[in-house]
Amino acid sequence: MKIALIAHDKKKEAIIQFTTSYQHIFQKHQLFATGTTGKRIQEATGLPVHRFQSGPLGGDQQIGARIAENEMDLVIFFRDPLTAQPHEPDISALMRLCDVYQIPLVTNLAGAEIMIRALEAGFFAWRELVKEDEAN
Ligand code: PGA
Repeated sequence: MKIALIAHDKKKEAIIQFTTSYQHIFQKHQLFATGTTGKRIQEATGLPVHRFQSGPLGGDQQIGARIAENEMDLVIFFRDPLTAQPHEPDISALMRLCDVYQIPLVTNLAGAEIMIRALEAGFFAWRELVKEDEAN
């Protein structure tokens, strides 16, 4: 599965702890991230992460484009709801595309905990079926 990881600055420590804790699951998947988030995850876990631009420089839009191309399966987004973000329109656009394309999206740690367990349990196998279906 292709998993996108994004964390706003005040949530970076949380996503590092999260990806470190569930490294044994993440290592079975392809990871993508916005620039700084990806760098921090790579450094902390040693996992390979495809890094897009930093969020404020277009990273969210790049992830959105992958979603529109059916090239992303899950989005884990540790959002900071208490700090204004200069790229708020990009964030909204990314979340909108998740809704348009039925891409599972979580925006906080509690949701991410559920998503990662569901992923490990195979609950997202339908994504592979959708892709196979569309390829035929
Ligand atoms: P970053 O981008 O991972 O490059 O910090 C995330 C964001 O702040 O939107």
